[in-house]
Amino acid sequence: AQERYASIREKPATTLDGETVSLLMNAGLMADLPSLPSSGAEGVGLFRTELQFLIRNQMPGRTELAELYSHVMDSAGDKSVVFRTLDIGSDKVLPFMAPQDEPNPALGWRAIRVGLDKPGVLRMQLQALLRAANGRPLKVMFPFIAQYDEYKAARAEMDKAIEREKRLGHKLPSDLKTGAMLETPSLGFAPQKFFEEVEFISIGGNDLKQFFFAADRENERVRKRYDTLNVSFLSFIEGIANRCNTTKTPLSFCGEDAGRPVEALCLAAMGLRALSMRPASIGPVKSLLRRSNLSEVRDVINEARNRGDQSVRPAVMEYLANQG
Ligand code: PEP
Ligand code: MG
Repeated sequence: AQERYASIREKPATTLDGETVSLLMNAGLMADLPSLPSSGAEGVGLFRTELQFLIRNQMPGRTELAELYSHVMDSAGDKSVVFRTLDIGSDKVLPFMAPQDEPNPALGWRAIRVGLDKPGVLRMQLQALLRAANGRPLKVMFPFIAQYDEYKAARAEMDKAIEREKRLGHKLPSDLKTGAMLETPSLGFAPQKFFEEVEFISIGGNDLKQFFFAADRENERVRKRYDTLNVSFLSFIEGIANRCNTTKTPLSFCGEDAGRPVEALCLAAMGLRALSMRPASIGPVKSLLRRSNLSEVRDVINEARNRGDQSVRPAVMEYLANQG
């Protein structure tokens, strides 16, 4: 399937009306990295570090993690990698951690909540990332940030880790950026100061959609009821993109929907200029974007909203069918 898109591999995802969307890939294991050049991705927009923890039956040590992250950066070469700190809890339970007995794990003690309450592992991870960067640029994002304070506290852990590395005489990253994953509707309404302070935001669409519609992402029956192209959801995404535009905060979208061509097109029409997806989706998404006129898609979406359509999908599909 990659072969089909070989001719556009090195070309940008620029639409007919001249808007360029940066396409990145999601990864989680070393084995994913070889897809980076062949997929045509500009970099890794989401590296899920918990996968490394999930496949083992013992907590990895700092040195081992630093080696792994260094390997990941070596394999990516001059392409950037966004490392997401440990996202555990809910559907991801570590084999060597006592499972929490919670009635609603998806709404429970997970991701950055664990990282901030029991900071040992987060600290080790941040140190391993700083060591791995060893003077190279580094991008780190924190999962499941629901309020400004959680970002501040996570960033403070990073600042402490940097101070420690400095004291030890280790090289610091040539450029360091920390970001937040926007996966709960609350963060979309965070104070302006949050948007000014955070260095980038990535929308975790899988979780965001689950919380937006109050529909379990693992439960087919309710999940399928709500279309990603539902006007309420798209309008929310558009609002986030507008806020990020005002504060010049780099924004990307890294849920599964980013890899579905029609969804990707609509996200781009709502203002997204960076999408991170599984490597095999880059070709199809790029191909559709390069054949599309974003301002026309925006008009189609706006008409559907004005008509009171529940989802813009039928209107967008009809528009695309007429394009041939
Ligand atoms: C998401 O929630 O959209 C996301 C990218 O993270 P995960 O699927 O790992 O929860
Ligand atoms: Mg998530």
